[in-house]
Amino acid sequence: MLNLTKEMLMNTYDISEEVFDLYEKALTDVKDEFAYYDEIREFNQLKVLKALQDEKISESHFTNSSGYGYGDIGRDSLDKVYANIFNAESALVRPHFVNGTHAIGAALFGNLRTGDTLLSVCGMPYDTLHDIIGIGDEERVGSLKEYGVKYKMIDLKDGKVDIARIKSELENDHSIKLVHIQRSTGYGWRKSLSVDEIEEIIKNIKSVKPEVLVFVDNCYGEFIDKKEPTDVGADIVAGSLIKNIGGGIAPTGGYIAGKAECVQQASYRLTVPGIGGECGSTFGVMRQLYEGLFLAPHVAIEAVKGAVFCARIMELCGFEVLPKYNDKRSDIIQAIKFNDKTKLINFIKGIQHGSPIDSFVECEPWDMPGYEDQVIMAAGAFIQGSSIELSADAPIREPYIGYLQGGLTFDHAKIGILIGLSKLLKNN
Ligand SMILES: *Cc1c(COP(=O)(O)O)cnc(C)c1O
Repeated sequence: MLNLTKEMLMNTYDISEEVFDLYEKALTDVKDEFAYYDEIREFNQLKVLKALQDEKISESHFTNSSGYGYGDIGRDSLDKVYANIFNAESALVRPHFVNGTHAIGAALFGNLRTGDTLLSVCGMPYDTLHDIIGIGDEERVGSLKEYGVKYKMIDLKDGKVDIARIKSELENDHSIKLVHIQRSTGYGWRKSLSVDEIEEIIKNIKSVKPEVLVFVDNCYGEFIDKKEPTDVGADIVAGSLIKNIGGGIAPTGGYIAGKAECVQQASYRLTVPGIGGECGSTFGVMRQLYEGLFLAPHVAIEAVKGAVFCARIMELCGFEVLPKYNDKRSDIIQAIKFNDKTKLINFIKGIQHGSPIDSFVECEPWDMPGYEDQVIMAAGAFIQGSSIELSADAPIREPYIGYLQGGLTFDHAKIGILIGLSKLLKNN
């Protein structure tokens, strides 16, 4: 069986014997990791199934409202299903969020006021949040900064969140209203924060200032653990529907979950005060949002398996990777340090060549809105830019770290990675 696959892979994609040997070795090495994630998948599948059943979801929830969208039962019930899954008072799940950044922006703008301080405790937040917060030299029109919301940041210390500094900041600066925690690595070289670590941070924050709100950027983290940040005291979380929780089926959108008051404040920034989440027609996407959620625990773990396999095979090839294949993960991202621009670009081009869509395209670095450096992205996806589908991207800056994530099926992730690696080795 394996030999037939081998022959097909080698003939179809010109994958060398050398890469194939690494592939077999890597697959053997990751067996225990896969068993660990299978258990998480099973647990979360049950959690999602139960939430759908508790809410008595039926065909009539696959609504197709128009106009104001008053009383869209499919939309309002999906909010309840998400709230149940997140163990939260309330949730706001909307195709009207254009992406994860938008959902995060609504959560921040909704819950901060002039004179408040936003404190980031994981170092620099994800690139697309800089314009929201107003980080950088130029005047950022429309940013929190322009509205008089101040910003402070605590760098990681030896790759860890600096709890002592957080406590002293909270004791000394009474304008801190909201603490921002980023679960995933983003474009950084650090490990994702486990939900247990997030719990520890939150306990410490609340021990000093129980009234400070804790916001967690949950992008890429959903269903990689049995718990979510809202299970351990986060007041509000947000993320994208074209990452883990949309299961590769949701065509667009974002979500927010947490304390009812916080979610309502955020809803006023998605729409306007007085309207919040009560308007917004759903154009027939509800079935996809439900089905995607149902598949998400499975798909997220397929993607994690791709990341684990990628870590192992790249490591066998001599590259430094983060996390290592046997590190416990809290997101689906695999960072690989290439230390070389050409190697990085060739690997990412290889992922594109292994995609089901646009496999014939040569991706190139370009200036993307919201990002400071040029970015190269391999994204041969059914849904534009969906990064729960196999994708790889990198800001073009030293030391040339590439980020791989997604894979609706592990079989596909594996093939994409083999093609990327072959292309890299052949061109160097
Ligand atoms: C993807 C991501 C976001 C939001 O990105 P969008 O592309 O706007 O969905 C925010 N934070 C982190 C850590 C992310 O990975």
